[in-house]
Amino acid sequence: MATVLIKGGRIVTAVDDYQADILIENGRIHTIGRDLAAGPGVEVHDAAGLIAVPGGVDVHTHLDWDFGVARTVDTFATGTMAAAFGGTTTVVDFCNQNRGESPLKGLEDWHKRAASAAVDVGAHMIMLDVTDQSLADMKTLMAREGVTSFKLFMAYPGVLMIDDAGLFKAMRIAGSNGGMICVHAENGLVIQVLVEEAVKRGHTAPKYHMLTRPASMEGEATHRAIALSELAEAPLYVVHLSAAEALHAVTEARDRGVPVHAETCPHYLFLTGEDYERPEFEGAKYVMTPPLRDHSHQAALWRGLATSDLQVVSTDHCPFCFNEQPYGIKYSKQQGKDDFSKIPNGAPGIETRLPLVFDGAVRARGMSLNRFVGLTSTTPAKLFGLFPRKGTIAVGSDADIVLFDANESWTIRAAEQHSRVDYTLFEGRQVTGRVKKVFLRGRLIVDGPEWKGREGMGEFVRRGECGKI
Ligand SMILES: [Zn+2]
Repeated sequence: MATVLIKGGRIVTAVDDYQADILIENGRIHTIGRDLAAGPGVEVHDAAGLIAVPGGVDVHTHLDWDFGVARTVDTFATGTMAAAFGGTTTVVDFCNQNRGESPLKGLEDWHKRAASAAVDVGAHMIMLDVTDQSLADMKTLMAREGVTSFKLFMAYPGVLMIDDAGLFKAMRIAGSNGGMICVHAENGLVIQVLVEEAVKRGHTAPKYHMLTRPASMEGEATHRAIALSELAEAPLYVVHLSAAEALHAVTEARDRGVPVHAETCPHYLFLTGEDYERPEFEGAKYVMTPPLRDHSHQAALWRGLATSDLQVVSTDHCPFCFNEQPYGIKYSKQQGKDDFSKIPNGAPGIETRLPLVFDGAVRARGMSLNRFVGLTSTTPAKLFGLFPRKGTIAVGSDADIVLFDANESWTIRAAEQHSRVDYTLFEGRQVTGRVKKVFLRGRLIVDGPEWKGREGMGEFVRRGECGKI
């Protein structure tokens, strides 16, 4: 494997910011220093004028996810290629237990699908049954399989929802074995009442997705999950936090020293519920859960990022095409044309996370570059047991490096993205900050617009203890 030298970049990690060269051997960072000499046969990349940041870590993706009525349209090959073009070199994807089966079987199936990944991948396990056997299997997943985080749903009764007893039991097992529970926090049963009433009244347009999932029910469930995790003495991670009420619960608990962590996603930071009003069913493109909310929530989320009550920005990349063709109705939002409750919930975003966060946080709001790296790489790597192999630029770490141009302005267009999905939530948005080159374990995989990676080159990453920053 080639020795690689990245020369003259400005290295930015979650704590440092300096000018130096990076020498890579056998996929790892070997030396960082000034004026390193390129010996014979060394592959040299000029990073003058660019920022070198650790490869992005996206801990919330749903690639090639089949849940019966719908299936996400990206394979691991296409989804991870899109991730790479967006500067993400590690994704932690959601694998699921099938009801009545062992989660270990779910992991085995997931490994087959994930084999085509072009960046490194880890797995969280979605638990659908909490039984004595599946609780024992959780221990095996943590001790033997490198799967140290679990997702439980407080929403979608009858499909994905786990009751409070199951949630509490899973928390205790995770907490006492170095694992962490991730929750989708919404009050599923109450939301179901609102959804059924809306459909009965003929309120079937996409905007009713938002109107039947009130922010207060996200706040309630977040508060409840925190209380259960405190009793279970387990760290908690709240996924895709969108509501001010939920953030208040997280902030209040963190102020008391409770180990609660939370992420938000770019769409909650940049978009509002007004998008549900788009004509010709286009509002369906924005149907993800929790829904987009109003400006007051958005302001609260930006404040949360500034105060560290929100520690991570991940994508919740869960892509369904808007159009039925070419992949078919199972992959399309058109399933819900006459009934919002049948629109597959989810939206794409895996390729635009770094530029959007850079543009919105660093350029527009004066956040430090270090904090930008923390939100998009270092903190998720630490919380999910990937650090220091991932999440930083340091001697001995994997040479996952992104060369980023902080000054280039460009316009986001679905036609130029690499996912199989046929739209982006950010069509036509101009952003400043662009990924120029991406290295995965020392190999150049993205070179401007050129794809140099290949499917299957991603490795499964066994993760360690979770919940530590
Ligand atoms: Zn999700």
